Amino acid sequence: MIANVIVDVPAKQTDRPFDYRIPPLLADWVEVGSRVAVPFGNRLLQGFVVGMADVSEMNPAKLKEIGSVLDPAPPLTSELVKLGIWMGREYVCPSLLALQSMLPGALKAKYKRLAVLPDELDEDARGRMQQEDSGLYACIARKGYYDLLSLIEQFPASSAVLKRWMKLGWLEEQQTVSDRLRKKKQLAVYPTDVPLSPEALAQLARRAPRQLEVLDYLRDSSGPVLLSELIAALGISAGTVKGLADKGMLVIKQAEIWRDPYAGRQFKASHRLQLTSEQQAAYDTIKHAVQSGDAHRFLLHGVTGSGKTEIYLQTIEDCLSMGKEAIVLVPEISLTPQMVERFKSRFGDLVAVLHSRLSQGERYDEWRKIRYGTAQVAVGARSAVFAPFTRLGLIIIDEEHESSYKQEESPKYHAREVAVQRALHHGAVVVLGSATPSIETYAAALQHEQREAAASAAGERSERTLPSGSTPPLRLLTLKRRVMDRPLPQIHVVDMREELREGNRMMFSRRLYEGIAKRLERREQMVLLLNRRGYSTFVMCRSCGYVVQCPHCDISLTYHRRAGQIRCHYCGYTEKEPGECPGCQSRHIRFFGTGTQKVEEELYKHFPDIRVIRMDVDTTGEKGSHEKWLNLFREKEADVLLGTQMVAKGLDFPDVTLVGVIAADTVLNLPDFRSAEKTFQLLTQVAGRAGRHELPGEVVIQTYHPDHYSVEMAAKHDYSAFFAREMRHRQSGLYPPYSRLALITFSHPDIPVLLQTGERLIHALAEQGVSEVRTSGRVEVLGPVASSIPRIKDRYRFQCMLKYRHEPRIPEKIRAATDSLDEWLKKHQVQLSTDMNPQVML
Ligand code: ADP
Ligand code: ZN
Ligand code: ZN
Repeated sequence: MIANVIVDVPAKQTDRPFDYRIPPLLADWVEVGSRVAVPFGNRLLQGFVVGMADVSEMNPAKLKEIGSVLDPAPPLTSELVKLGIWMGREYVCPSLLALQSMLPGALKAKYKRLAVLPDELDEDARGRMQQEDSGLYACIARKGYYDLLSLIEQFPASSAVLKRWMKLGWLEEQQTVSDRLRKKKQLAVYPTDVPLSPEALAQLARRAPRQLEVLDYLRDSSGPVLLSELIAALGISAGTVKGLADKGMLVIKQAEIWRDPYAGRQFKASHRLQLTSEQQAAYDTIKHAVQSGDAHRFLLHGVTGSGKTEIYLQTIEDCLSMGKEAIVLVPEISLTPQMVERFKSRFGDLVAVLHSRLSQGERYDEWRKIRYGTAQVAVGARSAVFAPFTRLGLIIIDEEHESSYKQEESPKYHAREVAVQRALHHGAVVVLGSATPSIETYAAALQHEQREAAASAAGERSERTLPSGSTPPLRLLTLKRRVMDRPLPQIHVVDMREELREGNRMMFSRRLYEGIAKRLERREQMVLLLNRRGYSTFVMCRSCGYVVQCPHCDISLTYHRRAGQIRCHYCGYTEKEPGECPGCQSRHIRFFGTGTQKVEEELYKHFPDIRVIRMDVDTTGEKGSHEKWLNLFREKEADVLLGTQMVAKGLDFPDVTLVGVIAADTVLNLPDFRSAEKTFQLLTQVAGRAGRHELPGEVVIQTYHPDHYSVEMAAKHDYSAFFAREMRHRQSGLYPPYSRLALITFSHPDIPVLLQTGERLIHALAEQGVSEVRTSGRVEVLGPVASSIPRIKDRYRFQCMLKYRHEPRIPEKIRAATDSLDEWLKKHQVQLSTDMNPQVML
């Protein structure tokens, strides 16, 4: 048998399966989806089995053998392998990267070089080695092998000796592939199979009552118990347990432990709520679709607080009772611990949670619960879309408009698109939920609605069968009202230019100032939002205007007070805060912009007794810190929760009655055709934090663009009007959804090389038929031009943007074009990457 293996080299030349013979001993272990170690060139590499065959096109004599299988069962399912290959094609990236991104980091290969004593080495050789360097020899001989690099580290003078020994055949070099992480083992106590005699027990009761307690505990637990648990529970010593083991009355052995990031946490059980009629209608439709066993797509468009999450919970419950599994994607789960809580409360241990704040070990174990174990619901951020379920029934993407669903490094996939592929395979249902759907999503849903309406007007049946494998239409489900008919909060827009004109130089408008004062008096809580993007504090000289820039990137450095440093957000470059201007030596160098720290200071200045919790990159670095701050706020240990976008999302605090947005415009000024959409979404989201419970809420939005439609429509809670207006903007510029985009970015330390690369790229694209002239305007090729951040880490960056409409096979053509430049790119070490449907225009 032959295995087709994709090896661990993310490059164009190796982006295809290589054939390996499966040795008879491994025949039962190698399957599609297995992780294997294979010889490649003169190295040993990790690889993924993506196919099996009886014969190879290669000369069988030349075929190498698979070295070993790395897991007891294949970590990837054959469905995921297929998906990885689809991603490689669709996102123009090596399939290897797609396959790797589906697995927890712990399964990334770690390569080791070992110095090994050959089995057949004779005594004579051993003696001579000992004579020559007894320390070195002893070190290797203890286990028969030793890590080569650490040998060289420990015996710095030894490389020549090692080399000689290898030449003489006394020592061999071997490579191994191992996981980044060991499974965690602990001592556990098991009952024996033999029943204990009444006499033995009676004797124990007399002589060693504590030991009898141990046996009782073990019997009551009906299964093995961790030794540490036993010791803690009974307040005994390890010796007590060991005594029993010596008598053969129980067994102590190593057991594999699954780490549980939520161990010791109590989740109050929650139950199905009686749905409102709006909820019921949406729920019935989704449930029906899950039962059908065919792929379906829905957009659940519901204002904040309309009860979307309750619909998710109930449809998942039904999905589970049908014996199917469910995935819930949330934007960045570490920011929304409340979401985890709601799923854990309803489904308990059936939930596995995957997010970036877990340790590598915890992530691995949560993942294993899905692949081999007990979990039937996966809740997580973007990459949880790959949860290795085999009977998937439902995929929910909450806050579907969030940009975090797009991965910005290769593979540059969008979780929405991957979810549809999985749904097609499983006959599952995808639900996109949002109060502010992305323009592209809403446009697709409206288009389907209109078609249906037209069809029914023409008397046609609306249920048409689709060609199999094609994306199902996006059906619209709407929740217009908040649960219990709670009113949406009143929103005031304050023109900050007006404030200045009338002599208010504070960063708080008079309305916000009074609002804060009133809340303090009434002991109610507030959320204040400052958008970090575009508003980070930069450092400027008041005398000459000098702005401190990163020496490696074309971007100004950001001030971090706590560390007394200025830092580059792109490359991490750091220097001490300057005492004087590097340009004119003036000491009037200042830190500009309204950072969250500055807002905090202002709050304390104006309201000396105010209690503020600040959440931003500076205060949330540590594991668990989000939860800590949010819990303090919930326990009313603070009046104000102040922060960046992370306070805008998904939080639900009953006593918050005022939400303030310090500056609404910061996103508007970015050079991005989605800036109005992002502003509208952010304002709507943050406004949704107010008045979610009994107390009515108020929102104050401060802005320099009070008449911009994104601000105006957000203040009126009018998504439809915003959508209509934004579609006109998209149409006039032929932006998505009126076109599709592909961005090709390339970088190099020298501009002339980039100019030449650009020319070659345009030419290569034209060869593939991708050029404006030949395709008569169906494809627009914009560029090459400098990217909007023209230099990062000392490399200049250029880009070409493709704008196209009904042009099929664009990824394929881009791949062919860039492949044909391969030699040039390699020779000059130009880095090039493609982003299909880019979300960020860097
Ligand atoms: P969304 O996800 O749309 O923002 P949620 O599902 O969080 O809305 O619901 C908002 C609040 O209303 C939550 O506190 C939730 O428990 C409650 N809720 C949801 N549905 C119902 C219902 N049918 N009856 C009573 N309360 C409900
Ligand atoms: Zn930099
Ligand atoms: Zn200066």
